[in-house]
Amino acid sequence: MTTAVVVGSGPNGLAAAVTLAKAGLQVTVIEAAHVVGGGTRSSELTLPGLIHDECSGFHPLAVDTPFSREADLHSHGLRWLWPEVQYSHPLDGGRGAAALRSVGDTALGLGDDARRWRQVFGPLTENFDRITEDFLRPMLHVPAHPLVLARFGLLSSLPASVLASRWSTPEARALYAGVAAHAMRPLSSPMSSAIGVALGTAAHAYGWPVAEGGSAAISAAMVAALESHGGKVLTGTTVRTLAELGEPDVVMLDVAPSAAVSIVGDRLPGRVRRALSRYRHGPGVFKVEFAVDGEVPWRHEDSRRAGTVHIGGSVEEIAAAEREVARGGMPERPFVLVGQQYLADPSRSKDGKNPLYAYAHVPAGYTGDATAAIERQIERFAPGFKDRVLARHVRSAVQMEEHNPNYIGGDVVTGANSPLQLVFRPRVTLNPYAVGVPGVYLCSAATPPGAGAHGMCGYNAAKAALAGLS
Ligand SMILES: Cc1cc2nc3c(=O)[nH]c(=O)nc-3n(C[C@H](O)[C@H](O)[C@H](O)COP(=O)(O)OP(=O)(O)OC[C@H]3O[C@@H](n4cnc5c(N)ncnc54)[C@H](O)[C@@H]3O)c2cc1C
Repeated sequence: MTTAVVVGSGPNGLAAAVTLAKAGLQVTVIEAAHVVGGGTRSSELTLPGLIHDECSGFHPLAVDTPFSREADLHSHGLRWLWPEVQYSHPLDGGRGAAALRSVGDTALGLGDDARRWRQVFGPLTENFDRITEDFLRPMLHVPAHPLVLARFGLLSSLPASVLASRWSTPEARALYAGVAAHAMRPLSSPMSSAIGVALGTAAHAYGWPVAEGGSAAISAAMVAALESHGGKVLTGTTVRTLAELGEPDVVMLDVAPSAAVSIVGDRLPGRVRRALSRYRHGPGVFKVEFAVDGEVPWRHEDSRRAGTVHIGGSVEEIAAAEREVARGGMPERPFVLVGQQYLADPSRSKDGKNPLYAYAHVPAGYTGDATAAIERQIERFAPGFKDRVLARHVRSAVQMEEHNPNYIGGDVVTGANSPLQLVFRPRVTLNPYAVGVPGVYLCSAATPPGAGAHGMCGYNAAKAALAGLS
């Protein structure tokens, strides 16, 4: 029987494992941590009964993909739940903006910018299924829908600050800047719109759902799917060399490129080693989980109903914070992403106490404590918040890497979203999953289409491996 070993049980490792097992291979996943799931783990990190997502919280790009359709994770227990407001952006004085599922309803809340929001996101939303067909794959291919992709590509290529200036109100500009900041790039840099345009469109096309019971439900469903095809998972074992794996026909590495270099060792061709060693990581994140007594007292009404709340103030403030982080400095007012998953999924709360998720963008490898800065930013838009905090759990950028070796320096998106790495990751080649050793493939978020708990890197890598076997 053809055998495969998958190193790492993040969503990409598990997606690769499910895809290979479904194709008839005998698959074993080996995971360093004692718990499966990589970036899709959830735990009671603050108080008993309060479920916190340790990493990934919202899953717009996982809802409808070739992998989700093939793996049918719903039949293995995965259920998506949507908040009323997909994401919001409070500004000082109780003002702010909110993104709803409908482009039209979102536009209605944006006053003078209604028409321009519809102009940018309307056509993209209508065509998003066709766009994802192309962008969930490696960039070097003949596009299935060239015209639709061209419009998406044109907007994506802009610096986020340039696209934001298309709107005239501080609300609409900030709403876009908040979603663009997910790229963790200076807003003035080329292609810094790529992630914002994709996630902003996905909010209208699919929403930003959470997994019922916590993001760990995503990996649990993938493990159930894997086991239904005869695969198994071994936890608590770090793989250091290929030799430890025996001689499987296929090896999938759900690891950072530098770890792939070290695991594959001397067998790696020199040109691949050099290319993978040049791979660049981005800034880090500093994460705080709060147990909150009741709700967060947001002054901006719609933020009380939002799954995700982007904190950072105006587009100019966010641009300054992201620029400072990219330079290696810690801004006084960092960009903070707040997750209120419990609004869509009340099963994560207990006795009126709610789990609140928050992380700030910080410089790579930041060793300081950003807890107070995060709390100040939330308090600024929700006065009285601090009085409602019952408990905290803190994970610094350095501890992020200890938690998951793929998050180098706290880089939770496994690689800088620079123009080169947005288009070619982890190196410039027609087959980005192959590492130049027969049967060995990289399948982590360092490969296309990049970060996110969608499993598409693993799925694409598994398809490349299956093609290599035939
Ligand atoms: C704070 C935070 C917020 C996020 N928010 C979102 C979000 O809202 N939506 C979204 O879609 N994505 C989000 N992400 C990103 C998402 O979690 C990642 O992009 C995704 O998990 C990457 O999946 P992966 O399979 O490539 O790797 P990972 O999920 O990082 O998993 C890699 C696994 O491999 C294991 N491993 C590594 N090396 C070895 C080894 N040598 N031997 C054995 N095992 C090994 C690790 O222990 C880990 O379990 C977030 C991440 C973080 C941390």
